[in-house]
This record gives sequence, structure tokens and C-alpha cells, in this order.
Amino acid sequence: MGIPTLINTEKELFSKIEFSEYDVLVPFICLKTGRCCKTYMPHVPEMDVLAIARFLHWSEEDTFSRYSDCFRKCIASHAEPCIFLNRDNLCRIYNHPLRPSVCKLYPFSYESSDVTCPGYQEHYRLIAVLTAFNTPSQIYDSSFCPDISLRPLPFYKWKEVIDIFRSCNPSPELEHRFIAWNLRKAPYHHA
Ligand code: SF4
Repeated sequence: MGIPTLINTEKELFSKIEFSEYDVLVPFICLKTGRCCKTYMPHVPEMDVLAIARFLHWSEEDTFSRYSDCFRKCIASHAEPCIFLNRDNLCRIYNHPLRPSVCKLYPFSYESSDVTCPGYQEHYRLIAVLTAFNTPSQIYDSSFCPDISLRPLPFYKWKEVIDIFRSCNPSPELEHRFIAWNLRKAPYHHA
């Protein structure tokens, strides 16, 4: 089974832990603090800024001027909220195809992860606990090509893994997704 058949890799972020005989998928759940977008203006090409402005029914000229100003301040370390963040801390272009890749991958990135993100901290804590008892051969996250095969968790390992997972007090949403992603191949379970 490959990860793309199990997860919508366009929308969902995860880490894959490879142990010697099986893999465990650890979902990343955004805690919707809006914290990242409050201090960061990603690079957006001019044509894309104008297209987004049209999509939002904003003035193209005014949008590009606000974008340029915000982006300049961010690269000069005077952090400002992204101009596409609304008052409810939600991204106005979340489902738009021009939403920058860096946003889609956040808090993972091709160079490093944002260790200050509260959702990432929860995610990392889970990985640390899951790997404390069994040495992984490799850990990948969504910034690595996810088109790789997945070795299902054997049923005899399930109770041990879910007990370790629950020792971190995961949120109900995280637990639901963890079970859905890792227990699909088991014929039955008592989780
Ligand atoms: S484009 Fe959306 S997700 Fe990206 S920083 Fe701006 S508000 Fe956040």
C-alpha cells in the first residue's frame, strides 16, 4: 500500500516512522492558532498576488502595494501578519491553488521545521515517545517525497503502539486520524 492511497497528501501533513518491520504514520494536526501567519508574509510572485486580489475582489494595485510593504518588513525581521489572514485567524486563500507551497507544508519545510509551532511540538512529542522504545531506521515528514510504500503495522503490535501513543494525551482528532491511518489493514481491533 502506498501513502497516497491512504492519505490526501495534497491536504494532510504527517511524518512516517520506519521501524525494522513496519511503518507508523503520525498525523500533524494544525491547532489553528494562526501564529505562523501572524508573523510571516510568504514570497508570492507578482502575477499570483494580482490573481489572488481578483479572487478576493480586492483592488490589484492596493493589494500589491500592501503585499510588497508587508513582505519587505518580514524579510527585514519586522514581522507583520500576512495580508491574507482574516480577523478570525483564518487564511482567506486556504483552498486557492495559488496558496504558497511553503504554507501548504508548514510547519515542515525542505530545510527545517518550525519548532516553535505548538502543533509541531505536539507532533514531535509523539514521535519522540513512539521512537523511545524502538529504534527507527528512518523518519520522514511531508517535505520529503511522500510517494513511498507503506508497510502496515502488524496487529500483534497494535496494543503496544496505541498505548504508547495515548500516553501523550493526544487530542480526540489526532487519535481518530492516527487509528484510521495505522489500523486500516488489521482485520479487527479493540482500541
Ligand atoms: S497565505 Fe494563508 S496560510 Fe500562507 S501565511 Fe498567508 S494567511 Fe497564512
